[in-house]
Amino acid sequence: IRGVDLLRDPLLNKGMAFSLKERQLLGLHGLLPPNILTQQEQVYVIMQNFYRWDNDLDRYIYLSSLMDRNEKLFYRVVIENVELMMPVIYTPTVGQACLKYGLVFRKPRGLYITIHDKGHVFDVLSNWPIDDVKAIVVTDGERILGLGDLGAYGMGIPVGKLSLYTALAGLQPRQCLPITLDVGTNNETLLKDPMYIGLQQKRTKGQEYDDFIDEFMNAVVKRYGRDVLVQFEDFGNHNAFRFLEKYRNDYCTFNDDIQGTAAVAVAGLLASRKLTESRLADHIFLFQGAGEASIGIAKLILLAMKEEGISEEEGLKKIFMVDSRGLIVKNRPSGGITEQKAIFAKEYKAMDKLEDVVREIKPSVLIGAAAVQGAFTEQIIKDMAEFNKQPIIFALSNPTSKAECTAEQAYKFTQGRCIFASGSPFRPVTLDGKTFHPGQGNNAYIFPGLGLAAILCDIRHITENVFLESSKALASQVTKEDLEEGRLYPPLSKIREVSTKVAVHLAEYAYLHGCALRYPEPDDKDKFIRTYQYKTEYETFVPPFYDWPGHKVKL
Ligand code: NAP
Ligand code: MN
Repeated sequence: IRGVDLLRDPLLNKGMAFSLKERQLLGLHGLLPPNILTQQEQVYVIMQNFYRWDNDLDRYIYLSSLMDRNEKLFYRVVIENVELMMPVIYTPTVGQACLKYGLVFRKPRGLYITIHDKGHVFDVLSNWPIDDVKAIVVTDGERILGLGDLGAYGMGIPVGKLSLYTALAGLQPRQCLPITLDVGTNNETLLKDPMYIGLQQKRTKGQEYDDFIDEFMNAVVKRYGRDVLVQFEDFGNHNAFRFLEKYRNDYCTFNDDIQGTAAVAVAGLLASRKLTESRLADHIFLFQGAGEASIGIAKLILLAMKEEGISEEEGLKKIFMVDSRGLIVKNRPSGGITEQKAIFAKEYKAMDKLEDVVREIKPSVLIGAAAVQGAFTEQIIKDMAEFNKQPIIFALSNPTSKAECTAEQAYKFTQGRCIFASGSPFRPVTLDGKTFHPGQGNNAYIFPGLGLAAILCDIRHITENVFLESSKALASQVTKEDLEEGRLYPPLSKIREVSTKVAVHLAEYAYLHGCALRYPEPDDKDKFIRTYQYKTEYETFVPPFYDWPGHKVKL
């Protein structure tokens, strides 16, 4: 393509960075202002605009339009300013964007497949213009972050996750496909809103829904092959666990809310061992919430304990869970103990208040993932500090508005003794002259590197051991200096390098354990991965002209 179409194609557009030769050769001359900018100068211009907005939702919209205009520039901006950009293109701002997706929506991005397309899912997939997709993130919008059912507005999540795949791990953006399966919504506000972008009907459930997901999985493999990675994201609890069990052995798939969260939380716990000089098995864990996040984390803790030489039976004794009906105990009168929760049920008296449970169990690790804002009260945090020299407190619920406690509360009520991490970012806290940098247990430390390794090495089944390996790879990159500042994770500014190292470690692990199907095995895994990674430098559109020796016609 030439001329104005080049400016309209975000994959090719360089904006004012087209050189004079390119402008003349490609029929762009005069269509751009006369000055020519370098990409670096363009980044400067974008950042000036970025700071001009006074709220993050406007910044999100601004960055999305940049992505629609000039993809390489968008990624260069994100990569160079990753700490600043992550909270805008991902949580917490992506949550606000999803809540208002109908307004935020500018240019369509990703694929919408609805329940009315049943029987034609493959045809809809065939409309996606790219044939070599390697990574799909799919949601049905039922549990977006901690915000509940947002139906088709949930598209913000797969779009955001995949942009992190590229920005943090270097997946080629063209190989990424965000998908929303619209099976309706039970959100009353959206059902009544004439401007809602999705199907205005109640969610389809039961066999019809299951058949639809089955058809989707089959269609994906038919279109993109067995090795395409399918990441499930923000499905309702009851479906998330079922689908994970159903598909994990036949497809290259994982559930980030269960397994990705688990890996990142366990990485934080592994890193904390350097501070507390303990084993995981020396701790008592209490979870507030027994959903996708908590169950995932608890199961991976069990696997990590196994490596410490602790049997599952012994390990289980150390893990307690509280759900919406209180402590999960055997034969609980109020019931509600699903198959997933059952192994964690204890022979114990029923208690519904978290404060009481904390006093009774005296946990050393308290993990919140129930999306109940403020669940870790002053009393609870103080009690944790009374029972432990270094209480470990993870307030994982997202977005920030759902956090169990703030970083400041955690440090203040424990006199700065706690080891703290949160799901959404908190600013550093200064207490009696000491500054703490709260760690953000952001799934983005794990899934991009893991996905990259899975795709490049063709790891067909992403086992629990692969997740535990990714936790170790992440924890090993936490330095002594990080820990001294209170960080359980490497600083976000280093996340790109961290992701690459996670991918390299997993590649080494996968070949060593015979779960990488790509042959021949690359000798240098590090080089292999870095060579593939997406580069933000513009390509040149001027071919390298050359003359033929002694030829009559000269250029
Ligand atoms: P989920 O599967 O829906 O689970 C929520 C759990 O919270 C359920 O077990 C529910 O109890 C319980 N709960 C609800 N109200 C409660 C209350 N008042 N007291 C005690 N427990 C209560 O959701 P999820 O996927 O686990 O996600 C939960 C939260 O974690 C979300 O805010 C999400 O954003 C966050 N999260 C953070 C990260 C991260 O930081 N990296 C990763 C994933 C998720 P019942 O089982 O009785 O209904
Ligand atoms: Mn999620």
